[in-house]
Amino acid sequence: MDTTLQMYKVKDIVDGFVYNEFEGKGLFGLLGKLTIQPEYQRNYIYADGKKDVAVIDSLLKGYPLGLIYFVDTSDDNFEILDGQQRITSIGRFTTGKFAIRDANGREQLFSSLPADKQKKIMESELLVYHCRGEESEIKEWFKTINIAGIPLNEQELLNSIFSGSFVTLAKAEFSNSGNSNVQKWSSYVSGSAKRQDFMATALRWVAASHGLEIEEYMPMHRLDKDINELKTYFNTVLDWISGVFRDVEKEMCGLDWGRLYEEYHTTSYDPSKVSASLHKLYEDTYVKNRRGVFEYILGGETDTKLLDIRIFDDATKQSVYNQQTADAKDKGSSNCPYCAIAHDAANSKIWDLKDMDADHVTAWSKGGTTDIRNCQMLCKPHNKAKGNK
Ligand SMILES: [Zn+2]
Repeated sequence: MDTTLQMYKVKDIVDGFVYNEFEGKGLFGLLGKLTIQPEYQRNYIYADGKKDVAVIDSLLKGYPLGLIYFVDTSDDNFEILDGQQRITSIGRFTTGKFAIRDANGREQLFSSLPADKQKKIMESELLVYHCRGEESEIKEWFKTINIAGIPLNEQELLNSIFSGSFVTLAKAEFSNSGNSNVQKWSSYVSGSAKRQDFMATALRWVAASHGLEIEEYMPMHRLDKDINELKTYFNTVLDWISGVFRDVEKEMCGLDWGRLYEEYHTTSYDPSKVSASLHKLYEDTYVKNRRGVFEYILGGETDTKLLDIRIFDDATKQSVYNQQTADAKDKGSSNCPYCAIAHDAANSKIWDLKDMDADHVTAWSKGGTTDIRNCQMLCKPHNKAKGNK
């Protein structure tokens, strides 16, 4: 790979700058010769009134913006390899898309800045490395230089490595925060469109349905001219969730719905019964893990481990232990009620507190509460044996 260092003035870089508000992309500069956002780059995420403003402040103060990398796609055409966020910020500012505050706290658009400051920005110099080489070589290197600013996350890196028609189509569907489905997705999938979280989830689910990882699925589909399977599978999972669960609870967001779909979609559920169970469990103060409620219901309400039922506190355990031990010593029997009825030498064994566990006399799942009247201390072997039944 060859590299050459070159200086550009801001005024040249932003000449012909186009910003697409809907897609959140800076598209072109250098009179159309520079493609600001190649497909493997992320969407513009500096528009937060801080990072974008900081870029402009740096120019006004004469601070360096750091190295920028272009890939030469032909003699006269370049793509930004690294620096897309910085250049988009500059382009958006000089075309009046956002304001900065001056020393007096007044908002200033580029057009309202004094002429000397406008000139300072436009004459600022950016240090650019031009790179030429094989696509694979450049992408490998891109992974290496991706150290400044906000690092690319896993999916953004995969998009750069496996760029092609499939990634382009998938990004158009899943990475566009203007997509009207984003609100629905956000009920069940955490993250944001711009950081590729919906795309990552959709890919993870469909890949797992074939027993694959994302890294295996993406290269297999790299040159596909459609994303039908990806899109259909994702929508099928979401439709299944909203078909089974009428309620939308915040704890549903980010669950591994793909796995739950694979495991339970052939089971039939009565949505009104599901809703009743859900409400009952949400009102149950013994249920500590609400995120486990959904799988608990799907699995037929048997695996109480998913709910992390509130356990007896130490004071309760000590008090029950003292009472049981005193009674046992009076009778000359074991302080574990299960040992006490056994026909062997253990039936008079007095266990230490540390060798016993608290047990619900009536199981929580059968309506037993977590208060002292429903607490008994069992020796650890018996408690374990009971829990396995
Ligand atoms: Zn026992």
